[in-house]
Amino acid sequence: MKQYQIVLASNNAHKTEEFRRYFRESGLPIEIITMREAGFDAEIAEDADTFEGNAYLKAKAVCDATGMCAIADDSGLEVDALGGAPGVYSARYCGRHGDDDANNQKLLQELADVPDEKRTARFVSAICAVRPDGEHITVRGTAEGRILREKRGAGTFGYDPLFYYEPLAKTFAELDGSAKNSISHRGNALALLLKNRDFFLK
Ligand code: IMP
Repeated sequence: MKQYQIVLASNNAHKTEEFRRYFRESGLPIEIITMREAGFDAEIAEDADTFEGNAYLKAKAVCDATGMCAIADDSGLEVDALGGAPGVYSARYCGRHGDDDANNQKLLQELADVPDEKRTARFVSAICAVRPDGEHITVRGTAEGRILREKRGAGTFGYDPLFYYEPLAKTFAELDGSAKNSISHRGNALALLLKNRDFFLK
């Protein structure tokens, strides 16, 4: 069977693992390669003010540079008691990009006086796929949860250890990769994306 390759516009090892696992378990003849593996190593400005806008910027930049179909996720955490913050600024909530510990610390401080029943939040993932012919698709997935008062679980990334998912009575950091993908914002977005299988298999 013909094999297809899609370039993932991310340098985040955890996201890459989640994408690879999802496509592997989907059974589709599609392999995810990273943008570094495709020879792209530049910074991409993520200056749109929506998840969808940033996902498109990333996928388009990598598609244009590599000439291959590219896919990007832009994601984050929306906390109701904070009016939707940190939202598109989730990766740099503490002021530095990608410092997960400091981001979690800041979140706990901001929510210190917020009672348990008001600590509701959701993860959002916008995923955009862009083909070299300019066609593109954008989808959004969400996962609803609650922010705990201390971390539980380890080994994943971002706000996972504080994000409690009621139906499984676990934080996202306490789930294994397949379980997280089956209910997560990214997994839900990927399920919608792969309804368009012809987009990728031509
Ligand atoms: P992006 O790489 O610009 O999309 O930033 C995403 C940021 O949102 C990450 O740095 C995390 O802080 C947060 N985030 C997104 N998805 C997840 C997840 O699945 N678990 C934990 N944190 C996440």
